[in-house]
Amino acid sequence: MDFLTRCILSVLIFTCLACSEDLPLSDRIDVFELETIGKTRYTIANGKSELGFQVVLKDKEGNYIPTENVVLKKDGGIVEEPIDIYKFKTTGPRLYQFQAELEGIRSNIIQVNARTQKEYKEIEFPVVFHIPENDLGDYPLDIFSNWIDILNERFNQLDHKRFPNSESANIRFRLIDKAPAGKELLTTGVSTYSRNGSGGVFGDWMWDYYWHPNDVINIWIGDFNEDLAGAATSPRLRPGEQSFNGITPTLTDTLDRLRGIILQSSYVKADPLSFVLLEHELGHFFGLSHLWPCSSDDKAEDTFQYSEEASMTCDQGLISPFNFLGRGGRIYDHYHFTYSQVERMRYVVDYGLWIGQNGATEIRSLNNELKTTSPPRIVSKPSKTRPAFFVH
Ligand SMILES: [Zn+2]
Repeated sequence: MDFLTRCILSVLIFTCLACSEDLPLSDRIDVFELETIGKTRYTIANGKSELGFQVVLKDKEGNYIPTENVVLKKDGGIVEEPIDIYKFKTTGPRLYQFQAELEGIRSNIIQVNARTQKEYKEIEFPVVFHIPENDLGDYPLDIFSNWIDILNERFNQLDHKRFPNSESANIRFRLIDKAPAGKELLTTGVSTYSRNGSGGVFGDWMWDYYWHPNDVINIWIGDFNEDLAGAATSPRLRPGEQSFNGITPTLTDTLDRLRGIILQSSYVKADPLSFVLLEHELGHFFGLSHLWPCSSDDKAEDTFQYSEEASMTCDQGLISPFNFLGRGGRIYDHYHFTYSQVERMRYVVDYGLWIGQNGATEIRSLNNELKTTSPPRIVSKPSKTRPAFFVH
C-alpha cells in the first residue's frame, strides 16, 4: 500500500467514525428495552412489594450505551429516581404504565398490574405418611415432623423484594395424631403398611392403605416400580360447585378414586431435601400445574412458562423465578407461589372434595358444622377408577 492510498484510507476511516458519531441518536440505537427486574409484570399493592426496572440500550454494533440520561416515565409523568435504583411500590391496586425515554426516543411500554394483597384465613390440614414396614429402619422417625415444619414455613413465607408477586398460601399442615379405629400409629402422622411396595402408582392395591381423604391427606411412600419421583392426584370440586379455570366438580361425592400423593422411596432415601418434592406435589394436589413446557398452560395468568430443556422462559429467556411449580436452578430454591396460583389453590381449599377438609381446622363441613378431631375413617372398597394425577 503506497503512502497516498494509506492517507486516503485513513481519511475515509476517520470520516466514517466521525459520521457514525454524528448520526442522530435514533439511527445509532439498535436495542432500547425497558425490563422489570422482578421478572414479572405483576406486583402486590401492599406498599412492600418491590418491582425494579432496568433499561437495555445498545448500538448497532451491540455495544451498551450508557443510560444515565434515560428517564423513566410512569403513566406519562417522569419518575424522579434513576432507573437503576427505582423500585416501584404502591398501595393502590390498578394498572400502571411504564416507559423509558432518551432524548425523545421511547422504549417499549410495560404495563404493571398491581393487585390487592388477599387475606386468606389460615387453614391447617392433617396429613398421614403411609410407609412400608420394611423401610422402617431407613428413615429417622422425626423426618416427617421436620418436613412439616419446613413446609409450614415455606408455604407461608413472603419475600416481596425478590418476588413482588408472591403470595402466602396460608395453608399449613400437621401430622395426624389419631388412626382409624383399631389401628395404631407408629408415631404421630406415620402409619406402616406390610405390602412390599411393588405395584403401580394409584393402583388398586393402595386402597388397603387408604384413609378417608375427606379426613386426612394421604401420602404414600414406596417403591412404585415406575420411573417417577412423585405424583399427586388432580383435585375435583364438590358436586354443584362452580368450575374454576379447568378445575371441575364431581357428579356425586361417592368416593371411587384414590386421592393423595405418592413419593418414590428411592428419592426420599437418597435426598434429605426431598421435602421439596412433597411441596411440589402438594401444589399439584391443590390444583396447580407445571410451568413447562412452552406449549402448556398452567391457568395462572401471572406465571411464566418454561422450556423443557433449557430452564428458560419461553417468552423472555429469563432464569428460573424459583416457583414451587417451576423448573431450573436448584430445586431447593423453589419457594414461592404467585398471586394467581394461590387464588387457584384457595378455590380448591374452599370448594374441593377429598382434600382432607373434614380434619382441617378453620374449615366447616358440608353441613356447616365445625370439625371434630375424631379419627379418620377407613375407606370401604367401592368399584374403583384410577384417578387422574400429575407426575412430577
Ligand atoms: Zn410435578
